[in-house]
Amino acid sequence: MQIHTTIPEMRAACRAARQGQKRLGFVPTMGALHEGHLSLVRAARASCDAVAVSIFVNPTQFGPNEDLAQYPRSFERDRLLLEKENVDLLFAPSVEEMYPAGAVTWVTVEGLSQKLDGRSRPGHFRGVTTIVSKLFHIIEPDAAFFGQKDAAQVAVIRRMVRDLNFPVEIVACPIVREADGLAMSSRNMFLDKQQRQQALALHRSLMLVKSAWETGETVASRLAAIGRSEIEREGSVRLDYFEIADPNNLDPLANVSRGALVAVAAFVGSTRLIDNILL
Ligand code: AMP
Repeated sequence: MQIHTTIPEMRAACRAARQGQKRLGFVPTMGALHEGHLSLVRAARASCDAVAVSIFVNPTQFGPNEDLAQYPRSFERDRLLLEKENVDLLFAPSVEEMYPAGAVTWVTVEGLSQKLDGRSRPGHFRGVTTIVSKLFHIIEPDAAFFGQKDAAQVAVIRRMVRDLNFPVEIVACPIVREADGLAMSSRNMFLDKQQRQQALALHRSLMLVKSAWETGETVASRLAAIGRSEIEREGSVRLDYFEIADPNNLDPLANVSRGALVAVAAFVGSTRLIDNILL
């Protein structure tokens, strides 16, 4: 596996990897890798000739009171995991490499960026779309792989790629969960034993909504109320949002049919977790 930390080196290596009509797959991450990330790498491996992964904890997608400084970093471990998955190219730039002094240009997906996580985390998606645009320009992938875990992110990125004509196919991959249902997340390592148990309320709330919908309830407000009350029953978990939305434009739905996105975000202690299902 080649490891590059500068933009010119990474760009040259990616161009070389694509020579001769080769399909280059790309998986952007913030490191602290787990099976969720590795599932994206495997999906890229299965459908592409070469695979590039980035590890970059992107400061511009964190709010001033969020966990940028605490965000887990485990480069050596990540590197070994990616070697094992036969990744060809790893890009691990510094913050200064990605954001030279005086950088003032942003990519913003209007409207969509203010929904779901974007409403709770002002500026978050502007940071995401800016860094993903930059990475797409450097790596020039044919396909990029994202987790359905971040459902709003998938919608925002898809819209950006369409609106700005990026020649990149966006592939969304299913959520990888622990055996008890908890969605894998780099932030799960912040949970103590008791919080780890309490965090199951998120998945439970989604499953309750799913079974209510399957047994005939289609009114979104009633379904969302079922989900919310399950979160509120777990006293130490603080709900951020519980919403049922169209997965493409993230607008709330009044009536729920197949394909609807049911999404939840909640704080367990000071750790913000998200989860969702598509009905
Ligand atoms: P992150 O490092 O948290 O920015 O995540 C990098 C990519 O991995 C994003 O596309 C996430 O949606 C994806 N991802 C994170 N957790 C999971 C999971 N449990 N299952 C599938 N994909 C995931």
